[in-house]
Amino acid sequence: MAFLKDGKKNKCCGCSACASICPSGCISMREDEEGFLYPQLNKDKCISCGLCEKVCPEGYKEFYKPEGIEAYIGINKDRAVVEKSTSGGAFSALCDQLTGRGYVVYGAELDEKLKVRHIPAHKPAECEKFRKSKYVQSDMSSCFADIAKLLKEDKRIAFSGLPCQCAALKEYLKLKNCSCDDLLFISVLCRGVPPQKLFDIYISETEKKYGKKISTYEFRNKRSDHGKGDIRSARMIFEDGSEKILFKEEDPYLKGYYKRLFLRPSCGECSFARKERVADITLSDHWGLEEECAGLDVSLGASLIMAVSNKGKELVEDVKEELMLIAVDKDKALSAQTITSKPVYMHENRDRFFSMLKKKSFYEAVEKNARPPLRRMIRILMQEAKKRFPAGGKAKGGRK
Ligand SMILES: Cc1cc2nc3c(=O)[nH]c(=O)nc-3n(C[C@H](O)[C@H](O)[C@H](O)COP(=O)(O)OP(=O)(O)OC[C@H]3O[C@@H](n4cnc5c(N)ncnc54)[C@H](O)[C@@H]3O)c2cc1C
Repeated sequence: MAFLKDGKKNKCCGCSACASICPSGCISMREDEEGFLYPQLNKDKCISCGLCEKVCPEGYKEFYKPEGIEAYIGINKDRAVVEKSTSGGAFSALCDQLTGRGYVVYGAELDEKLKVRHIPAHKPAECEKFRKSKYVQSDMSSCFADIAKLLKEDKRIAFSGLPCQCAALKEYLKLKNCSCDDLLFISVLCRGVPPQKLFDIYISETEKKYGKKISTYEFRNKRSDHGKGDIRSARMIFEDGSEKILFKEEDPYLKGYYKRLFLRPSCGECSFARKERVADITLSDHWGLEEECAGLDVSLGASLIMAVSNKGKELVEDVKEELMLIAVDKDKALSAQTITSKPVYMHENRDRFFSMLKKKSFYEAVEKNARPPLRRMIRILMQEAKKRFPAGGKAKGGRK
């Protein structure tokens, strides 16, 4: 609620819980000039009930303590699933198990209009659209009321999303007096999100560049080199059936995302970048745990699974047959990536990028800003030169 009170953008994750809970419908989500969604209040209709303040996940406190975590590296035994998933396809095993048990599972899909939104899945086949991370903030506005309604009808629900989205939904359901006994949360580790609007601009410029419409876009493509490619690449399929593989060194969206050039301001101060967990299960890549994976084929990726609640641990137990699993020390799992202890840092040209975007194309604005500023480049070059030519010495690695 800090944003509605003081307009501080770095304290608003844009989850839309405040707009969803408002009984008088006086809050709507509006894009700012960078394209991120923020709540906007119609003061004339406001009844000062304070619910928008209470529901905000910014002050979320009910974290699970890290001491209770059980951690595993997991790879789905079905290689085709691993290929279609971001990491090791652990999410698919969990999702299939849950829908098989009658749960309605909510996750993020990239729909046919290339918009990222949260939708429900009722059977295993419907979970396929949740596979692969979409590096765009998803629209989960329709989920809040739907999930509350389903819980009141005694349906069992699993929600998968970013940590801030899980916390927002928990706060919303608490205020709606919904029991969370039949609710399970799966979160991914998150290094931040760009807005949908930016992805739209990029898609439109890319379509112009190639002179044809894009029908499908897939982050974390693994097919670039018969499965041995860069798993941080992407793949787009055009309406005429042709396709293009995009690499993070060249493609402006991937380059900008991985360099943290256009993340939401609140991601730089994320309250969930900590060891305590929000969800019953947290999923991530196996980055930083390569040694623990000895003996596993991780060429197509592996998932780190951190289960913290009894519900989460039981679910992991139930999918053990579907996964190749290796237990990992929880402290090692938690310290493998910095986002479990501090938020991502924003690229120093972030603001310059957004102001340039008002006049230039997305491609140009990324190209001009994704590299370090000149002063930093000079510093890096000087440090390199010092290493190669220490004072009075000869060039390292040079001929004697
Ligand atoms: C924006 C974002 C940033 C991430 N950053 C990191 C990181 O820095 N380090 C790391 O180790 N892992 C990160 N992940 C998680 C990681 O990429 C994988 O999602 C995770 O390892 C699970 O992979 P999987 O193969 O088991 O499942 P997959 O089947 O690939 O599962 C994808 C899951 O992610 C959810 N999802 C996809 N896109 C979104 C979205 N836009 N918003 C909300 N939920 C979404 C789906 O609902 C599904 O639950 C990030 C994911 C996202 C979406």
